[in-house]
Amino acid sequence: MPRPIEATVHASALTHNLGVARERAGGARVWAVVKANAYGHGIERCFEAQRQVADGFACIDLAEAERLRALDWRGPLLLLEGVFEPRDLELCSRLHLWHAIHAEHQIDWLAAHKTNLPHRVFLKMNSGMNRLGFAPQAFRAAWQRLVNLPQVEDVSLMTHFSDADATRLGADGIAHQLAAFEAATADLPGERSLANSAATLRHAQRPLAGGVNVAGDWVRAGILGYGGVPDYPEHDAAHWGLQPGMSLRAQVLGVQQLQAGDTVGYGSAFTAPGPMRIGTVACGYADGYPRHAPTGTPVLVDGVRSRTLGRVSMDMLAVDLSALPEAGVGSEVTLWGRSRQGAVLPIDEVAHAAGTIGYELMCALAPRVPVRLD
Ligand code: PLP
Repeated sequence: MPRPIEATVHASALTHNLGVARERAGGARVWAVVKANAYGHGIERCFEAQRQVADGFACIDLAEAERLRALDWRGPLLLLEGVFEPRDLELCSRLHLWHAIHAEHQIDWLAAHKTNLPHRVFLKMNSGMNRLGFAPQAFRAAWQRLVNLPQVEDVSLMTHFSDADATRLGADGIAHQLAAFEAATADLPGERSLANSAATLRHAQRPLAGGVNVAGDWVRAGILGYGGVPDYPEHDAAHWGLQPGMSLRAQVLGVQQLQAGDTVGYGSAFTAPGPMRIGTVACGYADGYPRHAPTGTPVLVDGVRSRTLGRVSMDMLAVDLSALPEAGVGSEVTLWGRSRQGAVLPIDEVAHAAGTIGYELMCALAPRVPVRLD
């Protein structure tokens, strides 16, 4: 029998969640962001569910783009950071990709690219994130260079928000970036893409100058598509109507009866205050569960809330069974997502307890964990 741990990807939730993006985005089209192997869920596994809603797919590297074309996706496909070296442009053309242009050297590469398959590009502005993109004052010149190139048939415009999930800098987290983007692009033609999940959920309907809004022509829905909440704990999945895209479940392998003063696991990090029953679960940091999750991180045992105890080991962790007399060897432990009984433990809650974000937990699911699609 295989080790009793399994992740489940919930197809109907993936479709539902992208539907939430579509609703919030008004008339804008939806890029399903599938970078990092669909945020750890598996590109191929998620594809059928996501294509029910997505107008396009957005990824980071050519290998991911090739996988989507191999699934016979013939629609829009965007490389969010563009190409990494000049020779990538050839495959980019052949796969009919749309690609971001974030710096002068990528325009140089395009200008030198000999092709009769014209490129569609998203010119990226650094409106304040200071990661990738042209500064607002350099944006127009970059745009002019691109529209003059015979290799380019279409130039769209994009930017990325650093704080769309937060209330910051006075009114909100996006006002300063929005102002910079609008000032530099107001009279430029081309489609716009500004919003990630947080901006789609929180700001999409907000009007921009020129009759569009923050949703623009395309929103880029990443984490929300997988049921993760970008602005947790201010809001939770129920608030936004999102469903868990993934559940991670394992079983109890063994049970220990502790007395007051007994300790649990490496470093004796938890000491029993009195008699208690604990279960040892087939899930550890080598499965992608966060090692730094402290005592008290929530779990569901047979659908009932309990907590972890002591340090997470490579292959195991301990949970409190004191209030669960029926639980024992073989009991199901839901580390995040939906239990078989239908109870939900949001991934954001587990991530928050462990001092991280749902994104990291999804992406860190280890290859050794079998994944099932339901
Ligand atoms: N757009 C770009 C350029 C990104 O880098 C990302 C992810 O970081 C996204 C969209 C999706 O972000 P989120 O998962 O917060 O929706």
